[in-house]
Amino acid sequence: MNYNIGLLKGDGIGPEIVSAAVKVLRKVGEKYGHTFNFTEYLIGGIAIDTVGEGLPKETVEGCLASDSVLLGAVGGPKWDTLPGDKRPEKALLGIRAAMELYTNLRPAKLYPALKDASPLRTDIVAKGFDIMMVRELTGGIYFGERGRREGKYGPEAYDTEAYSVMEIERIAKVAFETAMKRNKRVISVDKANVLESSRLWRETVHRIAKDYPEVECTDMLVDNTAMQLVRNPAQFDVVVTSNMFGDILSDEASQITGSIGMLASASLGDTTRGLYEPIHGSAPDIAGQNKANPIATILSAAMMLRYSFSLMEEADCIEEAVNKVLDKGYRTADLAMGQDIPVLSCTEITEKILEEI
Ligand code: NAD
Repeated sequence: MNYNIGLLKGDGIGPEIVSAAVKVLRKVGEKYGHTFNFTEYLIGGIAIDTVGEGLPKETVEGCLASDSVLLGAVGGPKWDTLPGDKRPEKALLGIRAAMELYTNLRPAKLYPALKDASPLRTDIVAKGFDIMMVRELTGGIYFGERGRREGKYGPEAYDTEAYSVMEIERIAKVAFETAMKRNKRVISVDKANVLESSRLWRETVHRIAKDYPEVECTDMLVDNTAMQLVRNPAQFDVVVTSNMFGDILSDEASQITGSIGMLASASLGDTTRGLYEPIHGSAPDIAGQNKANPIATILSAAMMLRYSFSLMEEADCIEEAVNKVLDKGYRTADLAMGQDIPVLSCTEITEKILEEI
């Protein structure tokens, strides 16, 4: 099969890590008989410098014409003084909106070879964990009515959390479908003891749950979830939640793995076209030095094969290659964590992964 992939390399380490993922995709293509065609488009600071805007029209059109899109990272100190709506990070919100992506999938998995990187106690880490965070991406308080007004105590500001049944239904379906491919457990996170929007969330999730009798569905309050993630992360399989709760909890879940350079993500909508990217930023402190860990981007490419192209075996092949490389003790600087071991560059660890494919 032929697949057209849009590449948004972006800024900082973006070009290095995306190039690494492209090599891996080409190798998997050769092994399984697929052709991946890549077309680059500008986004972020590089786009501002080149054409005067962070998200050029050609980029949006190119992404919409692609079968799927792989992104590196955007932003850096050079553009930090620009006003909020002109900053490179704004382009990310723009491309997600243009592609109508309402689901964010973020796996937070503890790699046994990297368990020492986790900030959690060894007895907790010993049980391992493999969590899929399913976050609603286009609704809730980040997009609700907001403003300033005169209140009881003088000037005040407000933001509104509003969710429609339709928005909750579609994200709940994604969560249950995802759970069907995993361990068939969904924990739906809300604040239904206080918020009306959470009560609608809970009712709706339970109605959708009836269509998935094989999946165990439990509710958990957001404050308790924040605690449980550090006390007993092994209890989670799929976690589904709103935009803001998901923003916070997915960062917490990623931190307990201890290795930001390992974490992939996918943003999805109603079509198979998605936007795949590492969760880390553009790491300007190490950009251009061949020191970046490309694994998060390589694993994002594996997610693309799985979720956009249904190439399960090919996705497994990449994930297993990464596991083998880690098991053999190969590490980039961020994973070496001060240990006195040889450290591989971005291109060297990519070569090791290619050898395992
Ligand atoms: P960051 O994730 O870029 O870096 C945090 C730390 O982690 C740095 O020390 C960095 O060197 C290290 N790091 C990150 N990714 C790494 C990798 N793959 N390999 C090795 N080390 C890695 O976060 P930051 O420093 O807060 O932000 C830098 C810039 O990135 C800012 O302009 C920020 O706005 C932007 N940003 C972009 C995205 C995105 O594009 N999705 C996400 C977060 C931040």
